[in-house]
Amino acid sequence: MKYDIKSKLSDQFLETKIELLEYLINQAKQGKSNKSFTQDIDNYLSEKEHFPYMTSYCMVGPKYGLGCLLGHFLYHYINEPDFTKQVFLLTDLLEYIQAFRPSKNALLKQTTTVKLIGLIEDFGIFSAFFRNSDHRPLRIHYIPYDRADSNGHYYPNLNIIALYKYKENSYPEYVFIHEIAHLITHNLTGSPHKVPDSFNEFNKTFHPTWKPRSTDDIIEIFVDLFSIAIMAETEFASRNPLIDRFSDHGLKMIKDYFITLTRKLKYAKQSPILSRLAQKPPGTS
Ligand SMILES: [Zn+2]
Repeated sequence: MKYDIKSKLSDQFLETKIELLEYLINQAKQGKSNKSFTQDIDNYLSEKEHFPYMTSYCMVGPKYGLGCLLGHFLYHYINEPDFTKQVFLLTDLLEYIQAFRPSKNALLKQTTTVKLIGLIEDFGIFSAFFRNSDHRPLRIHYIPYDRADSNGHYYPNLNIIALYKYKENSYPEYVFIHEIAHLITHNLTGSPHKVPDSFNEFNKTFHPTWKPRSTDDIIEIFVDLFSIAIMAETEFASRNPLIDRFSDHGLKMIKDYFITLTRKLKYAKQSPILSRLAQKPPGTS
């Protein structure tokens, strides 16, 4: 009988995910292909993920968030023809899953997420921009566990934001906007490791003495300043721990920079389907 991968993905328990990964790793180690599970994974994902009409993102709640996140990784990994490489990828994924810990803390609410997306749209960034350059929509997966190393992650190749249960004294609203900013940098530069050239110029005036230690350093500064631009002077300002560190003048400079940057962005990256619709004369269907 064929291994029932869908039922292993369908609950929120870490144990079943670990068992599934161990099974797939074993198969690959014996040189047996896992490819035949591709369709089952695809079916599982399309059953559980629903994209509301005309939106460029979907949210997958804590019940199926972990299964769907894992499903997206597996969909690619099990098609790796080199078994040694496949074992390596799956083992990495197993370690990622094993680092989740049960937690009594909360997750960011989906209703709050929608409000935060509203803030981004009010700032002038269409949610159409959440699609990546392949027009792959954004998935937001709520994972009902926490992990020591972070409160959330953005996976650029999958265009997924995974949000974990947050720790005491942390700000899940800020984490979400921070992760969205990673998506924006990726869309702007085509790389998760680069910031727009204009940001390096901006930094020379904004922070003349500061020298980044690494490229990742400057990316984290970019995404943090983005979160400030979006959240300052809104009902969520108190949910961003960085805003208080800047003077009014500093906040204005940050905001002005991101307004100029994102004005260009929404036209440059608008999806072809939406731009065609936008160009239709009113009254035609
Ligand atoms: Zn970051």
